[in-house]
Order: sequence, then C-alpha cells, then structure tokens
Amino acid sequence: MIKVDLHTHTLASDGALQPAELVKRADRQGVQCLAVTDHDTCAGLAEARSMSETLGIKFIPGIELSTIWNGVGIHIVGLNIAENSTAMKVAVEYQSEARSQRADEIGIKLAKKQMPGVTALALELAAGAQIGRPHFAKAMVKLGYVKSEVEAFDRYLGAGKVGDIKCHWPELGQVVEWTRSAGGVAVLAHPGKYDMTWAKLRRFIEVFKDLGGEAMEISYGGENPDRLTHLAKMASQFQLKASVGSDFHNPRHQWTEVGKIPPIRGDYDPVWSDWV
Ligand code: AMP
Ligand code: MN
Ligand code: MN
Ligand code: MN
Repeated sequence: MIKVDLHTHTLASDGALQPAELVKRADRQGVQCLAVTDHDTCAGLAEARSMSETLGIKFIPGIELSTIWNGVGIHIVGLNIAENSTAMKVAVEYQSEARSQRADEIGIKLAKKQMPGVTALALELAAGAQIGRPHFAKAMVKLGYVKSEVEAFDRYLGAGKVGDIKCHWPELGQVVEWTRSAGGVAVLAHPGKYDMTWAKLRRFIEVFKDLGGEAMEISYGGENPDRLTHLAKMASQFQLKASVGSDFHNPRHQWTEVGKIPPIRGDYDPVWSDWV
C-alpha cells in the first residue's frame, strides 16, 4: 500500500520546519502522497509543492481550518484545495483577523494574571506565520512565567483555561463551504481529540455531513487503537471517506513523525484514492 500522510504543519503556522524541509523529511520517511495542512493559512503550499515535484512526491494542497460547534473548538482539514481561489483567500483573510483579535484577547487575559507582554513576544516569535497558541506557550517560557510549553498549555492555554478563547471562529457551515468552494474535500480532523462523548460526536458528524463534510480522519498519532477502530466504523456507518495524517509539527516531538500513521483495522474508503 502507498504511504500517505494528509495532515502536517510547517513554519507557516505552528510547525517547526520550513515547507521544503518538511517535504524532504517526508521523502526520507518514505511518504509518497503528502498534504501540507497549516492552521488557517496557505502560505507554505507553493514551497512545499515545488520540493514535492523535485522529489517526485504526490502533493496535496491543504489547510486546517478552526471552527466552533456547540461550544467545542473543532478542526476541519480541507484537502486538495485551490489555494489561489477566491474562497480560500476569503477564508485565510477571515481566519487571520480572527487569530489577530484572539491574540489581543489572550494577551489581556494573561496580563490580568500578572503576565504582561506575552502577545507582543508571541507575535515576534511567530515572525509573520499564522499565530497560534504554541507561539504563546513559547513566549510564556521565554518570559519566565512557566517552566515549559506543556505547563503553559496545562495551566493557561489548554481547553477550558483562560487563554482558550474560541469566540472568534467561524461556524462549521462556513468552513465547509469555503473548502468546497475552493474545490476541496472537508475532512473532520482527529475526531477523538475533542473530549466529546461518542453520542455527541455522532451528532456532530450528522451535522457535518449535512453541511457537506465528506471525510473524517480514522488514523492519526496519539490515539489508542480501539478508539481508532471505533472511528473507522463510524466513518463507514456515516458513509464518510477515510483520511489519515500524522499531524506532524516538530522533530523535537518524539511521539510524532511525518508519515507515522497507526495501522487501520477494518474496511474503509480512502479519500486519497482519486489522487494517487
Ligand atoms: P490554536 O491553533 O492557536 O488554537 O492552537 C492549537 C494548537 O496548539 C494545536 O494545533 C497544537 O499544535 C497545539 N496544542 C493544542 N493543545 C496542546 C497541548 N495541550 N499541549 C501542546 N500543544 C498543544
Ligand atoms: Mn498545531
Ligand atoms: Mn488540529
Ligand atoms: Mn493539525
């Protein structure tokens, strides 16, 4: 079977590698079909495509869009999008504004907790990339407010903490529509990572499908095999295509690697079958 990874990050958002370096790493890992899916930006795609062509890897342009549903922050991966389409330009512009407003609010919340200056440094560290909470975590370590990025998430930035501000994200229907208008396929990212019960996840998937969602990830890093098997069953019950992705961000994160996807048990309909 062909080695596929349809969920990865670069320095265009909160990843650690230049797009070209990510593609080289994927090639060394034997990946034959690679999607780059940075958070709310297409800025890394041209460089990644060019290196993919050089190395003979099938390249799938992608994006990971933040949205909100019933108070839960959800990620939708758009695969095989036309990054220069009007829809994607509108999407990226909207999300950039949402992230910029959120960054200001996170800064205000942290300043109230006697931690001034975080947003200014986070923006500096992001250096023009799409700003995300990992940049805030880095800034908080540098400013001496926490000992590690893990502590920053555990105490201040993770789900339900002061820095977890979701109110700016667009609705689910909007991100699905942007993706489809850009010619892409809307994929529910890492469905087991939202702290939802199976029943709530099923309700979500019904809505997602009604809105035009076509696929969900059934294998990704950091999830236990039984839960992945359950997700694969849900995908076939709901007649959603299957996607797989490492969600690779950083070579220092030893628990992930580009191309490292847990094996899939059971039958599935690969979203990538039209592309390879
Ligand atoms: P954002 O896109 O700004 O909402 O930030 C979400 C990103 O932060 C995710 O894509 C991960 O890369 C990272 N992240 C989320 N939760 C944690 C956590 N508990 N520890 C470390 N990184 C995290
Ligand atoms: Mn991330
Ligand atoms: Mn995600
Ligand atoms: Mn991701």
